Amino acid sequence: MRKIVSVLLFSLLFLLAVSNVGHAATATPQTKIILDGQELVLPLDVEVVNVNNNVMIPIRVVAENLKFNVKWDQKSQKVSIEQNAKLLSLNVGKKEARVQNVKVTLNTAPQLIKNTVVVPLRFVSEEMGLSVSWNNKEKIVGLTSTELPPVAEPSPAPTVPGVGNNIVWNKVNDISFANQQLVVSVDTEVTPQITRLTNPDRIVVDLPNTTFGDMGSTLLQGTMGKLDVSGIANVTDVRYSLFKKDPAQVRVVIELNNLSDVQVNSQYVSGKLIVDLALIATIGIPVNPIGNDSGKHVVVIDAGHGGKDPGTIGISNTQEKDFTLPLALKVQALLLQDPDIEVVMTRETDVYPTRPERVKLANTLNADVFVSIHGNSVKASPLTTGTETFYYKRNSSKALADIVHRHLIQALGFKDRGVKNGNLEVLRDTTMPAVLLEIGFLSNLAEEQAMLSENVQNTAAQAIVDGIKEFLQQSR
Ligand SMILES: [Zn+2]
Repeated sequence: MRKIVSVLLFSLLFLLAVSNVGHAATATPQTKIILDGQELVLPLDVEVVNVNNNVMIPIRVVAENLKFNVKWDQKSQKVSIEQNAKLLSLNVGKKEARVQNVKVTLNTAPQLIKNTVVVPLRFVSEEMGLSVSWNNKEKIVGLTSTELPPVAEPSPAPTVPGVGNNIVWNKVNDISFANQQLVVSVDTEVTPQITRLTNPDRIVVDLPNTTFGDMGSTLLQGTMGKLDVSGIANVTDVRYSLFKKDPAQVRVVIELNNLSDVQVNSQYVSGKLIVDLALIATIGIPVNPIGNDSGKHVVVIDAGHGGKDPGTIGISNTQEKDFTLPLALKVQALLLQDPDIEVVMTRETDVYPTRPERVKLANTLNADVFVSIHGNSVKASPLTTGTETFYYKRNSSKALADIVHRHLIQALGFKDRGVKNGNLEVLRDTTMPAVLLEIGFLSNLAEEQAMLSENVQNTAAQAIVDGIKEFLQQSR
């Protein structure tokens, strides 16, 4: 489940006024931090400051970008940084710090400025093992880590001739975690760089030349998003952020209890980058993650048609794809509120995954339920109306169809055209309970208007969700 809110990177560090006891802290807002050759995206309000001619940098941004574990204890005003097996701790206002329980003295005490702890640049170089440089004229802090290889140079981004700067990055439209698989919805195929790290055990997935699409504008300003992974075996945290601005790079970090238990594979299926954390059995053979051990149900919602395929055309020239997507997104939003359900969309935007791609996605995810959303049409018969629901052969699909259909009829009150067996590719070739919903007829003026209204779409979405939940409940 994707948490609706993006968690502010610095949400731990709250409004504590800091008096600088006579030392003026001068903000140098133009200052940039270049880490391993790439500019760091600093969250709003986070700045490099100059205290008594000491360059102080926001420690959390730097440490987290280096994939170190950072903890903040509000009560004791203590910052702990775990770097491989090394533990560093600093206290706001105290020059004394600890490195592996050995006291060290800083030239300037860490300070809390605008909700973020800043530490002297020299500490970073001496205790965190970074090479640092300070270009006073250009106000650039240069940091080089020797621990990690820099991300492989991405291929040059396409630029529009004559329109400098107009770079089109790949966009992430959704992130979820289903059946031990990280699912990242991206506009175009991307080759991730995957790094395995310990202390804490984690897998870092970097997507070069990639930024966030419609997932929330605060992500573009450096906030961090989190998935709710409670109840998922072995996985303790999944977080994502825009790691670099130019070239853009999205980073997803998956924290685990035990990294040695998993084998990481990635593949690209139907607009989704799927990073599979297959469990390794003791004999070293990957275990097929079949059997949803997370306790969460995986629901694939398929907005019919899209992109070059408009679907059917309504009586007022409505394109079916423009009905299916908003309704599917409403279904997604409602399902996301249930902590026991993980939802993956076959599309979140106006694109066209082929039918085999939609099938492959659902099968690869080993989804529990597949629901395809459509609108009907018979041009020659504008009075034809009603809801019909399709399944193909399987009893489980029939059961799902019966339940969802009943909820739709009750909620919308459209004519009941029944539950039907239909040899449709997305129903036939999927391996889980699968249904295709023809909500109503876009060729009927009244029904078309209703289907396009927010009100009716919200009602339909709720009915679909109620049906899915009832089915999941009884198939437990
Ligand atoms: Zn259709």
